[in-house]
Amino acid sequence: MIVVMKIGTPDVEIARLGDEFEAWGLTPEKIVGKHKTVIGLVGDTVDLDVLQIQESSPWIEQVLRVEKPFKRVSREYRHGEASEVIVSTPNGPVTFSEHAPVVVVAGPCSVENEAMIIETARRVKAAGAQFLRGGAYKPRTSPYAFQGHGESALGLLAAAREATGLGIITEVMDTADLDKVSEFADVVQVGARNMQNFSLLKKVGAQDKPVLLKRGMSATIEEWLMAAEYILAAGNPNVILCERGIRTFDRQYARNTLDLAVIPVLRSLTHLPIMLDPSHGTGRAEYVPSLALASVAGGADSLMIEVHPNPAKALSDGPQSLTPERFDRLMQELAVIGKAVGRWPQAVAVV
Ligand code: PEP
Ligand code: MN
Repeated sequence: MIVVMKIGTPDVEIARLGDEFEAWGLTPEKIVGKHKTVIGLVGDTVDLDVLQIQESSPWIEQVLRVEKPFKRVSREYRHGEASEVIVSTPNGPVTFSEHAPVVVVAGPCSVENEAMIIETARRVKAAGAQFLRGGAYKPRTSPYAFQGHGESALGLLAAAREATGLGIITEVMDTADLDKVSEFADVVQVGARNMQNFSLLKKVGAQDKPVLLKRGMSATIEEWLMAAEYILAAGNPNVILCERGIRTFDRQYARNTLDLAVIPVLRSLTHLPIMLDPSHGTGRAEYVPSLALASVAGGADSLMIEVHPNPAKALSDGPQSLTPERFDRLMQELAVIGKAVGRWPQAVAVV
């Protein structure tokens, strides 16, 4: 249920209403938008009478029922306004939002050693990325494949952050590692394979770092939004949704099918920012630039691109990783599209 307050409603009235709703057994959440303040009501609202709520204050403009199963992540919950996920990085705050420039996240699949992570960080920063990605804990199909260097790799990410000022995005796979990962990461990633790991979702929702929630490889959009709802329900409003390709019937040429349709679909359903990952989405470096460009043209708020100094020698996801040189060129190509859609103010180095 959404209670839209009239412009100019005194704070004391909003607080009074909040107390009243709590007395009714509901959980009120005050959301201050650019234009209006709304009170989101979560709880057992099925039997609530819209009129009864409407009559509880002359300052209420409108009462709306959210019919969808996801509430806090729904667009209505913020009365149509996009949310902003603002992440502090050593280079300054970076905003993920429909109203902000496209944020580029780049880096290797896995953190392999200090030299490679620092070199990659320097290269992607020079090309215009704002975040470095890199896995310390890797979810691998085979137990015999490289599993990531774990805690020591978090220290290497910290060194890369220190060297470049880039924000760090890295994955947490296990609730037992969350404290360590959130200490080092500026954004904590929940990977596709854990999208419905509900205990992990509750835990990342109960800590303060923003969360990047990847779409499960066979997840519907509704399942994905319900997973995000877990994080918001646990108290963390800072969630970025990342489309990374889904399983379809054709896996012969591309690893996954990057579902570009999520951009307009999510835009209509949720206020949360949208990231696209064409690297995992296609699995092949040569396909990545075209889908990265399409994502920005289609209105994505952010991109995740895997970049490795020597893809042929990468310990994971080499075939889909761009070389730093190809990434430089991609950033220049993206600048053309990004400027055309009004989402690209950052300076791009000419190489
Ligand atoms: C990754 O980002 O390296 C990764 C494992 O992604 P996903 O969870 O989308 O497969
Ligand atoms: Mn990867």
